[in-house]
Amino acid sequence: VYEAPAFEILRRHKVAKVEEGLKVTEQVLKIESELMLSMGQFLRREGFIEILPVIISPMTDPLNHSVFDAQIKYYDGYYSLTKSMIFHKQLALRVLPKIFSFSPNVRLETKERISSHKHLIEFTQLDLEVRDATREDILDLIERMVVSIFEHIEEKYIDSIRKLNPKFRVPSIPFERVKYIEAFDKFGGDFETVLSNMATNPFWLIDIPIFEREFYDKLSSNGKTLVDMDLIYPFGFGEGLSGGEREFEYNKIVERMKVKGNSLDEFSFYLEEAKKGLPKSSGCGIGIERLVRFICGLDSVKETRLFAKMPGEISL
Ligand code: ASP
Ligand code: MG
Repeated sequence: VYEAPAFEILRRHKVAKVEEGLKVTEQVLKIESELMLSMGQFLRREGFIEILPVIISPMTDPLNHSVFDAQIKYYDGYYSLTKSMIFHKQLALRVLPKIFSFSPNVRLETKERISSHKHLIEFTQLDLEVRDATREDILDLIERMVVSIFEHIEEKYIDSIRKLNPKFRVPSIPFERVKYIEAFDKFGGDFETVLSNMATNPFWLIDIPIFEREFYDKLSSNGKTLVDMDLIYPFGFGEGLSGGEREFEYNKIVERMKVKGNSLDEFSFYLEEAKKGLPKSSGCGIGIERLVRFICGLDSVKETRLFAKMPGEISL
């Protein structure tokens, strides 16, 4: 019964004995659990309310890259599996001013993505949104949250962390901000990898060009870049978070969807709500598995889940 998972654990951790592999997995899972606890505690202290995740909806995040459709037929209609809770987050702010959710996302990535070691087709993001907040407010919040959770993990699991990841240290804030276009001009199309490999502290990538992101991130007054950001982890771990200020005015949302080539029909449920009025907001989603990979210094996001689903594979 235990043979298959045990073999998998040996392969993952490149160790000779099953017990050693299980020990590493046990440590990673304990750190992951503690991390989610400390994120929730931090956000509650900041006045956030946790809401339950949405798993199925008539529409979901269109994303900026194509993945296979994940839909389930239901009577005469279809539900999509959540790719991100972006639209529901915006709507939730009608009721509560600061919300977060540990949101399971299904993104059926194409099989080439397996080699990135950053993609799972089922993953979880800590998704948060704040009414009336600016991008600046979210950058500040996340910087403080990162320090707080790293300190918490260091205090609780320093021995495991030292063994797993000798490079572990609490990041220093504020994180440097790098403008997308300047980085692109200097380092070319692969700038994110180059900069992440060079960095020793997380940094922000800001002002992402309009065609590199979804229609819901707010267009800046220059008409070319968005008031948004990615958080990039150092030592080559790459992107860990995306977010920004949001378009909330119906006309602007429709305009952005047209420019981007999104079908208005597909998002009719959302557009109806936007017509009634959406709260002005900013927020972000931070991938749990990528953060655990970075904290524990793991080769792949696969090592952060017991039942990891990798691009192009069918597995338990
Ligand atoms: N929707 C983004 C993502 O999942 C996160 C966000 O903008 O809040 O990448
Ligand atoms: Mg992203």
